[in-house]
Amino acid sequence: MPTDTKNSSQPAGRPSSELNVDLIKADFPILEEKVNGHRLVYLDSAASSQKPQEVVHALSQYYRHMHSNIHRGLHTLAERATVAYEKSRQHVADFIGGVEPEEVIFNSGTTEAINLVARTWGEANINEGDEIVVTEMEHHANFVPWFMLAQRKKAVIRKLPITVCGHLDLSEIDSIIGPRTKLVAITHMSNVLGTINPIQEIAALAKKHGALVLGDGAQAAPHLPINVRDLGVDFYAFSAHKMMGPTGLGLLYGRRELLEAMPPYKFGGEMISKVSFDEVTFAELPHKFEAGTPNIADVVTFDAALTYLERVGMNNARQHEIDLTGYTIEKLNSLNGLEIQGPQEVEQRGGAISFTDPTIHPHDISTFLDSRGIAIRAGHHCAQPLMRAMGKVATARASLYIYNDRSDVDALVEALVEMRKYFGL
Ligand code: PMP
Repeated sequence: MPTDTKNSSQPAGRPSSELNVDLIKADFPILEEKVNGHRLVYLDSAASSQKPQEVVHALSQYYRHMHSNIHRGLHTLAERATVAYEKSRQHVADFIGGVEPEEVIFNSGTTEAINLVARTWGEANINEGDEIVVTEMEHHANFVPWFMLAQRKKAVIRKLPITVCGHLDLSEIDSIIGPRTKLVAITHMSNVLGTINPIQEIAALAKKHGALVLGDGAQAAPHLPINVRDLGVDFYAFSAHKMMGPTGLGLLYGRRELLEAMPPYKFGGEMISKVSFDEVTFAELPHKFEAGTPNIADVVTFDAALTYLERVGMNNARQHEIDLTGYTIEKLNSLNGLEIQGPQEVEQRGGAISFTDPTIHPHDISTFLDSRGIAIRAGHHCAQPLMRAMGKVATARASLYIYNDRSDVDALVEALVEMRKYFGL
């Protein structure tokens, strides 16, 4: 591929067991921004991650040197773009444990990936009285599509509840997952509590009853080494924008035989084999599920994001997250009355850390922190059933990634102390 010599990016994390976060920070141009007169402290990666220079660069390289529509063209640019697009698919397939590239479907995000399964596999396979099991900690993206499907089909939604500590309560699981279960749709890592769910164990039980398992990997794929076959899932959905990649790009892994049996989701160009006024036949995988001109630029760019993550090393990223989450929890616990939601054991959780203050509303916390250059999120985090279970209307959530270090956590905690003084507490 031609390179742009004026703008070549620097290598990122080092392939060692320890992350050099100073070097990593230097890879992210946005971290040099000043926000409200302060250094930007970005603690909102669970909502969307920032992008390293080489990802920004890859997007501009694509438009400078290879943009064209893919698959149909016979000219050089069409060939270049097609090769890059399919290379990225292979990369995703390798990244999630070495599946077949035909088992990877590009779409617009975790939300669309889950809707695809609900609209295709769900429509074809869920019938009256069938049961769909979800957890109480699902993001709306992995709840509402199943709720709507259940309404259409007169199926039943069953829930795996949470414990007060923010783990899944599996004590009644044998009466929740059973012979009527057709699907277990479960988040791999909670975007609110940080909890990492024992998806493998749950999948094994689901399999015993002939049920399929869909993993919502929106939070896990950016932070954990993923092997979908080892997890035992039939479908796994995740979003590029939370893992250093561009916005507007989602990934669905599905087992080949399931995807082959599923009807298409959208109809039009690219997804057909033959069309006449009498008959339409559909293309082979993966094209059957990628109707129309896809998000070529972002798919091609995502290749660079995965390369970046691999160079850092997902095991290193995970170890860093464990260390920094432990540090953050300890520091937040030192603030009197501040309540952390979710597990305290760092091995069983990721770096999305929700907390509440006894007297200050999460929105006020977020607004105050923003005035100090600190970006966190506040609200129900698209998980209203979970909020109800926790007896909260909202939480503040700081979420960590590989470009965060202890200085970011210290800035957060200092600002929280200052905030309490500001509010006269
Ligand atoms: N599931 C979880 C656990 C999430 O955190 C998110 C994003 N907040 C989604 C699904 C939806 O992802 P997207 O908006 O990228 O489709």
